[in-house]
Amino acid sequence: MALPNFAYFEGQIVPYAEAKVSVLTHALNYGTAAFGGLRGYWNAEEEQLYLFRPLDHFKRLLNSAKMLCMEFDHTPQSLTEITIDLLRKENHRQDVYIRPLVYKADEGIGVKLHGVRDAISIVSLPFDRYVSNDTNAHVTFSSWRRVDDNVIPARGKITGAYANSAFIKTDAVRAGFDEALVLNQDGHLSEGSAENIFMLRNGVLITPPITDNVLEGITRRSVMELAAQELGLPVVERSIDRTEVFICDELFMTGTAAQVTAITRVDYRNVGDGKMGTVTAQLREIFDQTVRGKNPNFKDWNTPVYA
Ligand code: PMP
Repeated sequence: MALPNFAYFEGQIVPYAEAKVSVLTHALNYGTAAFGGLRGYWNAEEEQLYLFRPLDHFKRLLNSAKMLCMEFDHTPQSLTEITIDLLRKENHRQDVYIRPLVYKADEGIGVKLHGVRDAISIVSLPFDRYVSNDTNAHVTFSSWRRVDDNVIPARGKITGAYANSAFIKTDAVRAGFDEALVLNQDGHLSEGSAENIFMLRNGVLITPPITDNVLEGITRRSVMELAAQELGLPVVERSIDRTEVFICDELFMTGTAAQVTAITRVDYRNVGDGKMGTVTAQLREIFDQTVRGKNPNFKDWNTPVYA
């Protein structure tokens, strides 16, 4: 993977090689950081790079920071402006991924959230697909459970909690699957290792509510709106039982990295007829048009990088 040329680090844009932290950094030792993940999409006809919903992403990042007792003067607007400066400096002319990180920066011993210096960094790098099988993924139910809101909140993108996602992903991939579905402590479906989940049953699009230990995904929210407004589909948030996904008509995952990834098999059972469904295919197409600034109904989701 190509590394960035620049980073926003300690209040300024510096060469990437200078953006370094020490081995005693609090966040590295205790998982006391939170991250974001946004994409910029290249529109070749317009020669423009469009950031997808940056204000929503940075609002969620600042909410995660708040949970970790961090205080910043930044706003979603100021972080978006810094990101635009960084992307212009990199002069990207392809799809990119942007990784902001808020972290406990002090060096020293002591597990706590208060009284530790907070810092923020942002980097960007060229990025393409995340799930290679994005039209016919085969997933399994993980034997791991999702972190609970009373353990480490899944609605904050807290780095320490991603050890849970890493257990889930590695065991699934080593067992030969593309991804895993994860149950929460009460046995309902929460999400994938780094994706929200949707199923289509009897013409209704269903996704777990934000109180079922899921990340409040920006792609999740976007797909819910696109499905309702562009396809006229009823969209319902409710808990999902494990066996419902065996008998549903279509199943897909959403995420900034995964975009809209079709799931066609779950633990060796075909979803529907075992091929990507028509609603999933339509949503993939609409989503791609929308993120690249080609959907006039949702232009306010696109922030241009170049003047
Ligand atoms: N769930 C988890 C656990 C994630 O890490 C992600 C990726 N950020 C998502 C869902 C999808 O969220 P979003 O659409 O905002 O990228």
